[in-house]
Amino acid sequence: MPIVIDRDECSGCGLCMDECPAEAISLDDEGIAVVDEDECTECGACVDVCPNVAITL
Ligand code: SF4
Ligand code: SF4
Repeated sequence: MPIVIDRDECSGCGLCMDECPAEAISLDDEGIAVVDEDECTECGACVDVCPNVAITL
């Protein structure tokens, strides 16, 4: 199951980027978090850190 980010809930705070051990998350042109599925190991660390509960696995 890939990581899914709810674009309506993401504030672009960047906490998930800081937490990701695979450096798989970046912010797009609109300042919304996006996941590189080729790099993501589906560890779940970003899910736990998001204050807006915008990330699901
Ligand atoms: S931690 Fe959540 S709100 Fe913050 S950038 Fe990541 S997905 Fe968006
Ligand atoms: S599940 Fe883990 S590897 Fe994938 S984006 Fe989140 S923190 Fe990074």
